[in-house]
Amino acid sequence: MPQVYLDNNATTPIHPEVKQAITDGLDLFGNASSEHFLGQAARKAVEDARKKVAALVNAKPAEIIFTSCGSESNNLVIKGVTCQDIICKSEASKPGKHIITTQIEHPSVTNPIKSLERQGFKVTWLPVDQYGLVDPGLLSKAISKQTVLVSIMTANNEIGTIEPIAELAKIARGHEVYFHTDAVQAAGKLEIDVKETGVDFLSLSGHKLYAPKGVAALYIREGVVVCPVLQGGHQERGLRGGTENTLGIVALGKACEVAIRDREKNIERLWKLRERLRKGILEKIPEVVINGHPEKTLPTTLSATFKFIEGESILLRLSSKGIAVSTGSACSSGSLEPSHVLLAIGLPHELAHGTIRFSLGFENTDADIDYTLEVLPGVIQQLRDMSPLWPGSKK
Ligand code: PLP
Repeated sequence: MPQVYLDNNATTPIHPEVKQAITDGLDLFGNASSEHFLGQAARKAVEDARKKVAALVNAKPAEIIFTSCGSESNNLVIKGVTCQDIICKSEASKPGKHIITTQIEHPSVTNPIKSLERQGFKVTWLPVDQYGLVDPGLLSKAISKQTVLVSIMTANNEIGTIEPIAELAKIARGHEVYFHTDAVQAAGKLEIDVKETGVDFLSLSGHKLYAPKGVAALYIREGVVVCPVLQGGHQERGLRGGTENTLGIVALGKACEVAIRDREKNIERLWKLRERLRKGILEKIPEVVINGHPEKTLPTTLSATFKFIEGESILLRLSSKGIAVSTGSACSSGSLEPSHVLLAIGLPHELAHGTIRFSLGFENTDADIDYTLEVLPGVIQQLRDMSPLWPGSKK
């Protein structure tokens, strides 16, 4: 049976060139803070990788901090900007207690913000339209003298919609408010330029761009001061204590180098595959809704709602045929709650429950899409035949 992996937004396989970089780096066991030659070899590898990560988003190497995951990068910004500790409180941090974010962020943004809300911060949860787009006019209206941080994702992990980050960041900058973007799903897939968009913080994560799990990065614009969350030694400019994960960092650097080299080629190829899948689904299966923006979307993401049936059942049947997909983000699958993203774009609960996310990666081929389109219509029909909701149900 063929094996088709269409869950690349959950995590990606490790790129062969990244595997090679890890293998080559296995002897770099020195502590990058040690002054002897073994420590310095590790230090050099870490700093070389920092240059490559910086190049991916057009930052300076000194503006990149290595972390353990995208969730940590997001927490560092949100907690680091709002930290009230008198010791680490910086001149740059404002005293205000208002944060603006959207209703479609990843839990690693929403949960630390909800925690601050419980501690007395005021939070504005901006709505999105039916495509998942944030209205910049609403951001302008929401900003006040009390606002300390705006956090809006670059691209959504469930529906793929790409937000107008440059326009949104400009509004925040006009009010001297810090702007953070969670670019975990976009980095490596879209061209990202922190100088052009004018963001103050940007999160990215290794395992979404063909590096292993356990390594990620945060861009912090030069001159912006935040408090550390993981307090410890002087590593990462004192912003993230803990001995550097040299091998993971080397892998992330390599993944960024490969992403820069292959980005255009991949975007073009993935768009073609996504279109083939989208058109095939719409041609072969009735009563389907495609979610997200038709053009402003990641080429890797296709969210489809199959009316009258449960996404969970579709996922399990596809899995038994060797096709790996997801019902939503990895975090919300397994939960009975419908996805907050799908509800935010206006899908009723029953449609949100019937949604499947197909997410593509560089390894996918035409044959993968053809196999999926061969299997999927039968799976949907079988489930609909058993569904009391389906008008043509056999039950
Ligand atoms: N942000 C977004 C948009 C994501 O999709 C994810 C993971 O799915 C994360 C953050 C968290 O990244 P990590 O798994 O590296 O913590």
